[in-house]
Amino acid sequence: MKIDHFLIFRSSTIKEALKLIEKASRGLLILVNKDNIFERTITDGDLRRFILTGVSLSSTLENLPSKKSIIVPLNISISEVLEIMNKHYIEHLPQLDSKGKVVNIFFRKDIDNKILLSVPHIGEMEQDFVKTAFDTNWIAPIGPNVDEFEKELASEISVNYAAALSSGTAAIHLGLCILGVKKNDIVFCSTLTFAASAFPILYLGAEPVFIDSDEHTWNMCPKSLLKAFEKFKLIKKLPKAVIVVNLYGQTPDYDAIIEICNYYNVPILEDAAESLGSFYKDRPTGSIGKIGCLSFNGNKIITTSGGGMLVSNDKKIVDKAKFLSTQARENFSYYEHKEIGYNYRMSNILAGVGRGQLKVLKDRVNNRRQVFQNYKDSLSDIDEINFMPEPSWSRSNRWLSVLTLDKNSKFSLEKLFDILKEKCIEARPIWKPMHLQPIFKKSKFFSSAQTPISNKLFETGICLPSSSNLQLNQQNFIINVIRNFFNKK
Ligand SMILES: *Cc1c(COP(=O)(O)O)cnc(C)c1O
Repeated sequence: MKIDHFLIFRSSTIKEALKLIEKASRGLLILVNKDNIFERTITDGDLRRFILTGVSLSSTLENLPSKKSIIVPLNISISEVLEIMNKHYIEHLPQLDSKGKVVNIFFRKDIDNKILLSVPHIGEMEQDFVKTAFDTNWIAPIGPNVDEFEKELASEISVNYAAALSSGTAAIHLGLCILGVKKNDIVFCSTLTFAASAFPILYLGAEPVFIDSDEHTWNMCPKSLLKAFEKFKLIKKLPKAVIVVNLYGQTPDYDAIIEICNYYNVPILEDAAESLGSFYKDRPTGSIGKIGCLSFNGNKIITTSGGGMLVSNDKKIVDKAKFLSTQARENFSYYEHKEIGYNYRMSNILAGVGRGQLKVLKDRVNNRRQVFQNYKDSLSDIDEINFMPEPSWSRSNRWLSVLTLDKNSKFSLEKLFDILKEKCIEARPIWKPMHLQPIFKKSKFFSSAQTPISNKLFETGICLPSSSNLQLNQQNFIINVIRNFFNKK
């Protein structure tokens, strides 16, 4: 990039400026004084607005107002440049030397090649459903897209009924309300999960009790669950519900867990926020618990930008969710309320996005599974790492590709995170278990292992970029960075 191609002076005419900005073809010029010292940036829009004040094309830039432009000094890293761009919502940044001369212009397009963990992947139908919502003025948390999205999703995962909500967290909250969780009640919950699985227990003033993971599934360990039930049976205080999470798209061994919960007659609330499109044996996830909760947050396998769904085969449960999510309004001509209600319904516009996304769910699952398989195949000769297992009865959507580093390996996980970060590759640790979180420090925790499995997974685990639109060259770039780190050719 030749800086000269962007420089323009107060004495230049508007016509010259227009020609130059066209030629430079990046929508940007830099106004400098006769000593080439930076004065301000000029965008296409700045020129347009200036012309609209009534000046002629042959007049000079003498009267163009001055503007405080954001600039960066020498010795700045690319990631700092990106941070400043993000903070100020700008696409370009001139870089000046100590005298004020422009030495470089950063354009976001050239430097923002960060590979993120999990990003939205929009299909071809979403905009049509949203457009119909606009055309028919269904701009509300009610409407045809909401009804259809519920029906289509219920059929996709073989449940009878569904209530579209504003988030997965809202679905878990209402699910617990409907299962009768009240102040001082006990709720069991998988410890290895995102905090949103457990926060709704606190919303209700109830007490979470966390259950460790099983090493073969990374999900709720049946032995630990049994241990917790036996303990609470002794003090005659059984939980009102068991929140079972399908971590990163994978299920626990549900046969074992269901047997225990049935024995104690306690319902399962299935947190399937991460596992839409996954299966336990031939059962789609979300359909396994008495209540299933789904999320359509921006980072999930399909998204409505933000949203969730509560599903069940029990019509009463789903009707109740619809009732509570619309302020618990009784069926009277006036506004009558007997219970606490919430404003948790999904918007008809967002449900349109969801209907489009649902059409490509199977492709998204296949893509994510391919991403996982590519990592696994390409890194299988590195002895120190192990991928998240998939038991024979499970078909995970591989929402995230996760691996662990052997504890006594000579390589450090922290260094791997550093190197990935340096290469603009976003990687994350595995969820920090709930029983280790400050907010839950008073909560009880049950494990059947000497050192909790979830602690080990947290200490050794790493989630790699897993988006369904992650390009093959990006995957191979990540793979090469990792292979290099482990000194593999
Ligand atoms: C994302 C997520 C949630 C919450 O869903 P939101 O739609 O973001 O409220 C709950 N549980 C788990 C396991 C999640 O990953």
